[in-house]
Amino acid sequence: DTKHSDLAVAQQFKPFFKEKNKRAFWIAGPCSAETEEQVLSTARSLASANIDLFRAGIWKPRTRPNSFEGIGTQGLEWLNKVQTETGLKVCTEVANTAHVEACLKHGIDVVWIGARTTVSPFAVQEIADALQGSEVKVLIKNPINPDLKLWVGAIERVAKSGIEHIGAIHRGFSSFEINKYRNQPRWQIAIELKREFPDLTIICDSSHISGNRVLLEEVSQKALDLNYDGIMMEVHPNPDKAWSDAEQQVTPEVFAKLKERLIYRPAEI
Ligand code: PEP
Ligand code: MN
Repeated sequence: DTKHSDLAVAQQFKPFFKEKNKRAFWIAGPCSAETEEQVLSTARSLASANIDLFRAGIWKPRTRPNSFEGIGTQGLEWLNKVQTETGLKVCTEVANTAHVEACLKHGIDVVWIGARTTVSPFAVQEIADALQGSEVKVLIKNPINPDLKLWVGAIERVAKSGIEHIGAIHRGFSSFEINKYRNQPRWQIAIELKREFPDLTIICDSSHISGNRVLLEEVSQKALDLNYDGIMMEVHPNPDKAWSDAEQQVTPEVFAKLKERLIYRPAEI
């Protein structure tokens, strides 16, 4: 049973971005939107670094309560300012119907389903239903546990809702093993996903795999060498003071240099 999918969805995937297979796709921005100024200043710098898509979480799935749980709906207005001021397209995480509806109302270009949501078929189905009939693009992170079928199932649920532009984000898997990664990459799982859905766009979230700045370059280059289509990275104007994921964020300046050093070798087709 190597074919997990019961749907012939592979052929339906439109390329997530026009230059797929010609260059890498770059998603960057803070883990969390904190203030309007933080969001806008980061976005201005990242626009100069020629990224494709600006990210910022506004509803944050925190492991424990009493951590910063996100700025909420007002962050959508800051993302709208990013769109008009910088021309960048923007994305944020959605975990329920209300999040999807708010994003659609505000013209958010791309939404992503987070790792803690992909594990729940009920939650994914609710989101897929809310997305029905919209033109928004959707990125689906792997589930936190190393279960390829859950990841495939979430992609199928979103595809069945009629969304045409779908991509997957590999952000690593939680584990009791302690090693250098925050989330174990288990590259083989993403490679199997690529085998199952050859046209699917796949992005490596190097920040959440690494959990620290030091590993970002190695993880990102490995992903590009495995023919991933792009990289997602968390960028903050003052990483050590970030309200979430401080250790893994980098300044826009560090990001821009890293982006230049990373080598994309187009797949030979
Ligand atoms: C994030 O991208 O900030 C996030 C919460 O990611 P994940 O769902 O991969 O943990
Ligand atoms: Mn984060």
